[in-house]
Amino acid sequence: MRGRPAPAPERLAALRLRLALAKRRHTIRSLAAILARIATEMAGEIDRGTVADYIPSLARVSPAHFGIALVDAQGREYAAGEAEMPFSIQSVSKVFTLTMALRLHGDALWHRVGREPSGSAFNSIVQLESEQGIPRNPFINAGAIVVSDVVLAGADPRETIGDVLAFVRRLASDERITIDRDVAHSEAVTGFRNVALANYMKSFGNMSGDVEGALKLYFHQCALALSCRQLARAGRYLMLDGRHPDSDEQVVSPLLARRINALMLLCGHYDGSGEFAYRVGIPGKSGVGGGILAIVPGKASIAVWSPGLNERGNSRLGTLALERLAAATGWSVFEGA
Ligand code: GLN
Repeated sequence: MRGRPAPAPERLAALRLRLALAKRRHTIRSLAAILARIATEMAGEIDRGTVADYIPSLARVSPAHFGIALVDAQGREYAAGEAEMPFSIQSVSKVFTLTMALRLHGDALWHRVGREPSGSAFNSIVQLESEQGIPRNPFINAGAIVVSDVVLAGADPRETIGDVLAFVRRLASDERITIDRDVAHSEAVTGFRNVALANYMKSFGNMSGDVEGALKLYFHQCALALSCRQLARAGRYLMLDGRHPDSDEQVVSPLLARRINALMLLCGHYDGSGEFAYRVGIPGKSGVGGGILAIVPGKASIAVWSPGLNERGNSRLGTLALERLAAATGWSVFEGA
């Protein structure tokens, strides 16, 4: 039988390379197109949720904003909408201070804060009494205030605020990131519940330093201002098994990165965490500024921002956008390969 001669190994290799390049070009084009489409769809949404109004600087923000940015495992970046506009990341900062606390103190942290979903609002105090001042997880306010106390470790709060800012800048490889002092000040003058949570935990012996210092740090970390692009970059270590892609530094071990992602999936949206996992299926951490950081392990770090919130205090359109992105890419962690 006369067939076509088998291609030489070099030709086969060249063919494979062409195919791989074509596939990569396709992914790049399609991801850019998916984000652009989502941004257009979000612009047309009528019900944008309600902007947080407990401090004037958040109440002033228009619900019309929408931005999304994505960094993939190869470092390619995609963005749509207002991805360069800084916003108040609020509780998304709890991911970064948790990372710092685990780097500093490792598993000892878990004597002071739990790892279970709370099923209650982010600022709830109810479980603290029956659970002896041990917050359910590091992402509800009580848990994050304990984490701040751990990170502070008796040092000068101003210095530690500088350390947190430097850490986030290093994660994002961006020295321009700042803390909005105005937001931090407003947080402090209206933060009666957070003051109550801190004092209540102090009464159970679960605050090692003075409550003022931990609260000062907490209010300032909430006031970190990042754009979607900066936030997506800051989250890269969580998609890369704990490795910083620019410096190659191991920010946390692969095991810890996996565990932080697990906490984000189960607790990152407070009493809306089940709903977020059901709809999106990706580890995510929200903030009342309307931002969400979402991590697809091994694939992408994504930040989305839309200031209008749903009834659980999570970005309404941010969630919807991530739901559409997960559907379009098949990136839910529950989706088979
Ligand atoms: N600064 C807010 C507070 O402590 C943060 C809460 C949030 O983003 N869910 O109330």
